[in-house]
Parts: sequence; structure tokens; C-alpha cells
Amino acid sequence: MIYKTFLEKLRAVCLEKGLKLQLIGFAGNDKDFPIYKIVVPGTAKNKKTIFFSAGIHGNEPAGPWAVIEFLKKFSPKKYRGPRMVIVPVMNPFGFENNKRRNAVGIDINRHFRDSRLRGDNKLIYDNIKDENVFFFHSMHEDPDVKKFYAYGYEEKPEKIYRDVVKVGGGFFKINKSKKIYGDVSENGLVLNDKGGSLENRLVHDRIPFILCTETPGKEPFEKRTRANAKIMKKVLEFCIRNSD
Ligand SMILES: [Zn+2]
Repeated sequence: MIYKTFLEKLRAVCLEKGLKLQLIGFAGNDKDFPIYKIVVPGTAKNKKTIFFSAGIHGNEPAGPWAVIEFLKKFSPKKYRGPRMVIVPVMNPFGFENNKRRNAVGIDINRHFRDSRLRGDNKLIYDNIKDENVFFFHSMHEDPDVKKFYAYGYEEKPEKIYRDVVKVGGGFFKINKSKKIYGDVSENGLVLNDKGGSLENRLVHDRIPFILCTETPGKEPFEKRTRANAKIMKKVLEFCIRNSD
């Protein structure tokens, strides 16, 4: 029922904004969980795509709900920028059941480097690989913590990642540990290429900007949702300035 309610609200805001929800496939054992994307066309001269992903871990709900918050304030008619693709709930079975894993018990975000992609992994990757992605941002949450952090993937230091951490810092304390889950971290930004994640796969596809944010699940839900929506806006503004 949660997913149904979510889709009703998403559909309403898309209708209001003149945006279409496009079905990309189905998840779940009985293929009863539709997965949708929202596509905002870019200006003709800009051939690049900004890709927002959320809800790949079903127990991290603020990202999906932030998409609705973001769209409420977004004006497609005034928009001049790169094509934007948003998949608000990558793992609707997990979202419905408040579970990290998908219907067959897999952590989807650990299988994107498998030699052959199957099921949800194939469906998700097939919808990204042919887009000319300039910036990929995935919204995650860390259910067990009270501090914000992010993962960035870069060859030289990118200011935008630090700016996004600053946006997170406007809502939460930043995790300033020198290591986060064993990875070297500096001021809340972990620079790492994690095995099997979608980000890891996209690093190997040489996508220029790849960011994964982790809002703290022990902080209020409403605050986490607002933070994610504000980060989406920050990323979008960066892409408008830098992608043509
Ligand atoms: Zn996650």
C-alpha cells in the first residue's frame, strides 16, 4: 500500500507539471511492482543527461519521497538544461516492505559488476547505459546513524561534491571520521569505488560525475526528505552551469 500511495502522489505532481511517468518494467516475484522513470527533456543543444536514482535499497525512503518534493518546486516550462531522468523507486518491492533487498533476496547494489546482469540489475542498467549521462546521483540513507556523509568518484577534486556535503551540513551533523565503514573519508566525503555498486559500474563506464549521498536514518524523516530535495536542486544547478 505504501508504494501505491507513493505512486498516487507522484502521478498527481507529474500531472500538475505536465510530466509523464514512463513504465520501464516490473519487479517482484509476480512482476507486480511497476518501476517508473520521469523524463524531463533537455534543451536542444545540450545532449547530456543528468540521472537521479533513489530507492534501490527499500528501507531508505527519504530519497523517493524527496523526488516528489523536488518536482513540486520544479518548473518544466522554465527549465533550460540537460535532459533529466529520475527513477524514484528502483526497488519497489523493498520500498513496499521496508527491506533493503529485492524480492529474490538480493542486495541489488552489490551485483552491478557481475559478468552477466540479471533481473532488476539488468533492467536498471539497461535504462542508464544508453543515456549520455553527465552526472549520476543516487540517493541512499544510512538507517543506523545520526550524521550525514556522501560518496564521490573523481579523478581530481570536484568542488560540487564538497558543496553537496555542505548542503547536508545545513540539515545534519557531518560524519567527520577519518574512516567510514573502512573507507578513507575526509569531512564527510568518502572517495571510493565500491565493489558491485551501480556507482562502481558507472565509474568503469567513465561517467564524469558520480555521487551517492547518505542521509542519516536516525534523524526525522521530514528533514531527510527536505535535505535530499535540496541536494537534487544543488546537483541540477551545477549541471545546468557545466554540461553544455
Ligand atoms: Zn543504500
